[in-house]
Amino acid sequence: MLTIKEIRKVQSLEEAYELNQKKTNRIIGGMLWLKMQTGNVNIAIDLSNLKLDTIEETDSEFSIGAMVTLRDLETNAALNEYTHNAVREAVRHIVGVQFRNLATVGGSIFGRYGFSDVLTVFMALDAYVELHHAGIVPISEFAKMPYDNDVLVRIIVKKTPLACAYLSHRQTKTDFPVLAVAISHHHGKWQAVVGATPHRAAVIADENNILSGGLNTESTKKFAQYVKETVKTDSNIRGSAAYRKHLAYVLTKRALSSIGGIDA
Ligand SMILES: Cc1cc2nc3c(=O)[nH]c(=O)nc-3n(C[C@H](O)[C@H](O)[C@H](O)COP(=O)(O)OP(=O)(O)OC[C@H]3O[C@@H](n4cnc5c(N)ncnc54)[C@H](O)[C@@H]3O)c2cc1C
Repeated sequence: MLTIKEIRKVQSLEEAYELNQKKTNRIIGGMLWLKMQTGNVNIAIDLSNLKLDTIEETDSEFSIGAMVTLRDLETNAALNEYTHNAVREAVRHIVGVQFRNLATVGGSIFGRYGFSDVLTVFMALDAYVELHHAGIVPISEFAKMPYDNDVLVRIIVKKTPLACAYLSHRQTKTDFPVLAVAISHHHGKWQAVVGATPHRAAVIADENNILSGGLNTESTKKFAQYVKETVKTDSNIRGSAAYRKHLAYVLTKRALSSIGGIDA
């Protein structure tokens, strides 16, 4: 059980950051992950007064506050139109609607969980993470950074012409993914982001230009094979390393086929 002594609704990011430097204090998002932990928290730092619960769109980007819920991501029409529903597909399997109404973007991304659908899809969008202290960093770099006591402020998705598809495989509805694949094409480059390997999501770029001649049955199979051979997988309770490699092939081929309108 988690025991919290005091909940503090902070009035500024600086106040949140300063409080968060103490090991006995914790930022709280939806508390869905935190509440499963055991221990004592002196001050639970609540960001809900900081107006970080909106998705804002300009001509050039989406700005997604740390307190936006997974349900907001799922139902935001503009974000899903831009991402060809990849964001909706990434979050819609996570537990249930009531759960997604509480789980926050900040709690989902800051944790950098190996199983994270949320991290996987935002990496495929080449998003940026705004941290109060470290500033704006590409999310693929953030994914590799060690844990520290910074405050995640928002996620920024720059708008560029984008092709994108997200697929995951689960043993049963609402369970964690056995493997997740997000394919994207922007700035003239194709990439696969593979999550739940079960390590933190990793980018596999089309460095050999397998897809640069266009999507067809041959090229999609070849890139799927490349992803299968390149991705580092391991075994855990949900599946073996070899099964995950097989899934990487299948999900990559299916995602590319759906983007290219090819029979998978
Ligand atoms: C049963 C269960 C099943 C799940 N299944 C999936 C799944 O299939 N796919 C998936 O992707 N996810 C899954 N998740 C994870 C879930 O979607 C959330 O990511 C998770 O619950 C954390 O979100 P939260 O808002 O509740 O964060 P919290 O639990 O409140 O916080 C999580 C951590 O992030 C820190 N934190 C929160 N906000 C910030 C911030 N703004 N800045 C810095 N640090 C911050 C907290 O201090 C804490 O360490 C699952 C979780 C549970 C409990």
